[in-house]
Amino acid sequence: MVRLSSGPSSRADDVTRTLRKRPPDRIRVRRNPKKGRYERERIEAILDRSLVGHVAFVDRGEPVCIPVLYARTGRDLYIHGSRASRTMRALARGEPACFAVTVLDALVLARSAFEHSANYESVVAFGRFRPVDGDDARLVALAAFTNKLLPGRWDEVRRPNAKELKATIVLAMPIDEASAKVRTGPPDDDNTDDAELDVWAGELPIVHEFGTPIPSPGLRAGTHLGNSLARLIRDRQLP
Ligand SMILES: Cc1cc2nc3c(=O)[nH]c(=O)nc-3n(C[C@H](O)[C@H](O)[C@H](O)COP(=O)(O)OP(=O)(O)OC[C@H]3O[C@@H](n4cnc5c(N)ncnc54)[C@H](O)[C@@H]3O)c2cc1C
Repeated sequence: MVRLSSGPSSRADDVTRTLRKRPPDRIRVRRNPKKGRYERERIEAILDRSLVGHVAFVDRGEPVCIPVLYARTGRDLYIHGSRASRTMRALARGEPACFAVTVLDALVLARSAFEHSANYESVVAFGRFRPVDGDDARLVALAAFTNKLLPGRWDEVRRPNAKELKATIVLAMPIDEASAKVRTGPPDDDNTDDAELDVWAGELPIVHEFGTPIPSPGLRAGTHLGNSLARLIRDRQLP
């Protein structure tokens, strides 16, 4: 199996190898292969943009696909959940897994129904999760989750106590076998007969933006937003 480069992100190495070698079968984008990307740097950047992924696995012979939050640190993709969760327990056993992430950037509106599409960046990664053991390593992963939701938040909130840590499974999967697929740009019918049609065509960007914070009903009066939240709503946009 050919793997993504294992060292720190090295764009030149990955691109060179990609040009030299056909990507392995399981991760080779076949439909619109020009949209396929295999550089670690690109894959990591897409993983860092999105908040939610879908993890697929087989449980007692049946396919399952479950949405989860995740975080990436270095070459590892982390997920976490309750020790009681069927998903966490199955993945902790090392069941083969497939993890998919999508960021939708625009609707692509063509003159014909056929050419309608979307601009997006997506990643599909294959592998097996392993339990993250040891409180220190688990705290690093939990900090990554918290800071992925809201950068800087970990330093502002109460840390997990022993009971909470015990109730939580943290799993990591190395991002070694993964592809990205990326679509950008206008619809594909500008240079066809359909361009003569009196139908608006183009891209409708999708803006990922946060709204106004809604205080928890039990929030103590006068509690400050905190630096991380204040910073995020000032900047508004998701990363
Ligand atoms: C945006 C988002 C983020 C999440 N983040 C996490 C996370 O980080 N960690 C975590 O443990 N869980 C997370 N969840 C919840 C997660 O999707 C599962 O519900 C949970 O992990 C329990 O998994 P399970 O296999 O034990 O579910 P079970 O309750 O055993 O699943 C049984 C059946 O319930 C249904 N089901 C389960 N979950 C869902 C769902 N989300 N939507 C619709 N039907 C469902 C399915 O039919 C499934 O086959 C998240 C959910 C969402 C939508």
